[in-house]
Amino acid sequence: MELNKDINQFDIPLAKRIYLKNPNSILLKKLLIFSPFLIFIFSIATLRLIRNIELDPLNRLKFQVERNHDGRILGHLPYSEIPKEKLVLIEPNIEVHIDMRDSLLKMREEAKNDGIYLVFLSGYRSINLQKDIFYSLKSIRNQEAAERARVSAPPGYSEHSTGFAIDIGDATQRETDFETDFENTDAFRWLTKNAAKFHFKLSFNKDNKYIDYEPWHWRYEGSIEALKVFESSKRKL
Ligand SMILES: [Zn+2]
Repeated sequence: MELNKDINQFDIPLAKRIYLKNPNSILLKKLLIFSPFLIFIFSIATLRLIRNIELDPLNRLKFQVERNHDGRILGHLPYSEIPKEKLVLIEPNIEVHIDMRDSLLKMREEAKNDGIYLVFLSGYRSINLQKDIFYSLKSIRNQEAAERARVSAPPGYSEHSTGFAIDIGDATQRETDFETDFENTDAFRWLTKNAAKFHFKLSFNKDNKYIDYEPWHWRYEGSIEALKVFESSKRKL
């Protein structure tokens, strides 16, 4: 009993409540409260970063494979030569794929009805002829392959070898044949407005990175075979 009495006599201090008044301590307190959220956000950000780091080279590789897969050379896609039995002569020196003959002739007829005279300058060209054009002009003009490829396709890479391409001029302005100036002719304005009705499309427009703008060069996309031939060119460069 003596001992208990003594204990009761001890002056035991009450628990002290400490108030965090100092601004640094308040910040610390807030940090402690929000720390689970911060950790959560930080983890998400880290995970995303890791995923990006891992995926980026893979994506780049995939893109590279797609680009190489379509087999372009200097911006031109490979095209095989049309089988001879599918070629038809529509006028002296102009042969085209049989699928596009009617549509092409109808287009010229309709233009004529509107007072516009279209001239066909070049249709099907064999890979051999394209070889002559590409290599001989290259040496005549003293141009490197890449420069030459801006205005002429390398052999095996020309839409003309498919029989589905046609170069068109204006009969009243022959000086614009194969010239960018063709875009200022009535024939070109008419084609821009009407060619799609006959399933013709300009192949090399102004935003092509590798190949110069060719307002005279149109291709036919009005048959399944033609669509198949030009399928890969629809992919962006
Ligand atoms: Zn052409």
